[in-house]
Amino acid sequence: MKAAGSLAGVHALRASFPEIAQEQKKLVAISTPLSLFSYADVKLHDGPMRRQFDENHGRFLHLDDDRMLKVFRQIAGLPAPGEDMGGWYDLDGFSLERNDFHGFIAGHSFGQYVSGLARAYAVTGDEATRLKINKLVKGYGETLDPKAKFFVDYRLPAYTYDKLSCGLIDAHEYAHDPLAMDIHERLTRAIVAYLPEKALSRAEQRSRPHKGTAYTWDETYTLPENLFLAYQRSGKPLYLEMAKKYLEDDTYFNPLSEGNNVLPFEHAYSHVNAFSSAMQAYITLGSEKHLRAAKNGFDMLQKTQSFATGGWGPNEAFGEPGVGQLGDSLSQTHASFETPCGAYGHFKITRYLLRVTKDSRYGDSMERVLYNTILGAWPIQADGTSFYYSDYANTGKKVWYKDKWPCCSGTFPQLAADYHVSTYLRSPDAVYVNLFTPSSVRWTDGSTTFELAQTTEYPFENKVAIQVSASQPHDQTIYVRIPAWAKREPIVMVNGERVKSGIEPGSFAALKKTWKTGDRIEIEFPMPLRLEAVDANHPTLVALVQGPLVLMAISDSQPEFDSQALLQAKPVKNKLGDWTATSSSGGNVTMRPFMSIDKESYSTYVKLRS
Ligand SMILES: [Zn+2]
Repeated sequence: MKAAGSLAGVHALRASFPEIAQEQKKLVAISTPLSLFSYADVKLHDGPMRRQFDENHGRFLHLDDDRMLKVFRQIAGLPAPGEDMGGWYDLDGFSLERNDFHGFIAGHSFGQYVSGLARAYAVTGDEATRLKINKLVKGYGETLDPKAKFFVDYRLPAYTYDKLSCGLIDAHEYAHDPLAMDIHERLTRAIVAYLPEKALSRAEQRSRPHKGTAYTWDETYTLPENLFLAYQRSGKPLYLEMAKKYLEDDTYFNPLSEGNNVLPFEHAYSHVNAFSSAMQAYITLGSEKHLRAAKNGFDMLQKTQSFATGGWGPNEAFGEPGVGQLGDSLSQTHASFETPCGAYGHFKITRYLLRVTKDSRYGDSMERVLYNTILGAWPIQADGTSFYYSDYANTGKKVWYKDKWPCCSGTFPQLAADYHVSTYLRSPDAVYVNLFTPSSVRWTDGSTTFELAQTTEYPFENKVAIQVSASQPHDQTIYVRIPAWAKREPIVMVNGERVKSGIEPGSFAALKKTWKTGDRIEIEFPMPLRLEAVDANHPTLVALVQGPLVLMAISDSQPEFDSQALLQAKPVKNKLGDWTATSSSGGNVTMRPFMSIDKESYSTYVKLRS
């Protein structure tokens, strides 16, 4: 029965038995020690993360299909009803005769909107969401010709292909769309004609001749992540070969893997996003070099490019370490951190690194970005008006981005759905509590069904309670992240008894026992105030930090403090999570978390009197 003819039989079996399909799809070299729960296993309860998920899901569920498909239909010469989207999304001065097709990056975020909807469907199982995904995928497929002429003279073909690729594979994976993988393959076969032979750095792009408007920042180096995923989800070698081809080894991953910091002057978000391609090269191919590149690159990001908020890349670029570039940026720009895209990329790479290393510091880093950046982003408006940059200037303000439907309107709905798979992770005999937020996770282990339900007002209070339910008593380890900042005796209690050993800041505490319904875990974190200088060259420009939260000074000009007075700030105990501190001039200054700031001016960093 091992003859070639048995293959057809295998395919028939795969079609009718999903569990056999799973067996056949072992297309990865590495099983990571931790894996993700499915989106549906996790429920977010009332709180800021749930609110952002609902807002994004609702926004894109109710965005008109005709508007989203219009640019693709216009270029295909099909009837294209519906209003223009506006902003980055449209064709500019569209004319087939003049061959004058594209606006800024027409249709760039269509794939991300489909991806966000597919992940939202995986969370909610909402039928209207699934139907919308089917219509969008089918509608897009109707505009796709064998040469993908949409991309003729298109400024950033790799950039937009990468997002379409993600949307289509997510529509297949999470919404089981029947057409998505076929359309994905047709698109991929056609797009090759518009791509260079390998991933190109910006320097390489600049050195090549361009016709028309020279844009030297297409992002070929982000393609492999979705190509590896397309391979895992379809089994087609075409994707594997392309993924390998677009790994940016020569100018990025090779030097990073050897510990050379090549981040300076690169575009920030797309190069953090590229770390996820390196992680997929590790998972799919077993390439240790790419794991080293991602780990080293992430360390360099944290140590040399990051603000106290966890955000990075002022003016969307990495700077040269050791010369005080972060501190200097506070007086030079209001475009301090590209927030939805940056946070999306940051969540992805920290999730990959957590899965592989089980190192809690990646969870610490994820929550810093969560509470100090993205949870303070304003929701996308019906007309595409979007929040883009966080402003860490000496005196900053939240503002809307100048153009509608920018990149950050694409990553925001994807990230908000990903909150579900970032909160808990699992291994064969354990569950990891990574984020502290009102939520529950339910899963089955053999014949036992477990549920953990978390209640907390964290980070506005320091207590977390986790209630266990189990269909029968069962051995299991529950790992709880103890953040590195929780110095001086974090308290963990199980059923009212204090756990005496293994509760170390900067690790996952292992709570191993035969768990049964009614068991209860209670955690209390010390959250002392601390000061973090923006960089070593600017020791008197500091952020006030409490636990994972940066407390920003509400003021029309950057205030000055004595360090002791700042460290003696007192909580106001209002709903905004405000604190108050006495400045050098004797006035009281309100210190407020980014997620509670609206239109008021603020200083992320304040001056210390020297
Ligand atoms: Zn963006």
